[in-house]
Amino acid sequence: MAYDPNNIFARILRGELPCQKVYENDHALAFNDINPLMPVHILVIPKGPYVTLADMTAKATAEEIAGFLAAVAETARLAGVEDEGYRIVGNNGRHANQEVLHFHVHIFGGRQIGGRMIKS
Ligand code: 5GP
Repeated sequence: MAYDPNNIFARILRGELPCQKVYENDHALAFNDINPLMPVHILVIPKGPYVTLADMTAKATAEEIAGFLAAVAETARLAGVEDEGYRIVGNNGRHANQEVLHFHVHIFGGRQIGGRMIKS
């Protein structure tokens, strides 16, 4: 699927839409989800134009991929959920109901999360 440069997260990256920034490095931006489902609900997005994880791993440099992954860990640490734990989720494609077609990872935490991985 082609990347749409006018998707919401691309516009946030360009500063055209606001966000509550939590962390940023050369390759990733982390900000609070606009509709939080948990006390901590943060999105981490790569700065490059990738639709899915497969798209990113096919096109991004090793440095970008490492920088993105490091940003996920650093964001969780800054959000204060490292000690008690957190869950990362990445919705990819139609079966996962991916809403925004710019690859992203959700960080959920701040309270005990249900034991089940998914609910239908
Ligand atoms: P997805 O289903 O694609 O994994 O989730 C997209 C997430 O982006 C949703 O949790 C939704 O609340 C969040 N979101 C959508 N639009 C915006 C926005 O304009 N700003 C922020 N901060 N989050 C958004």
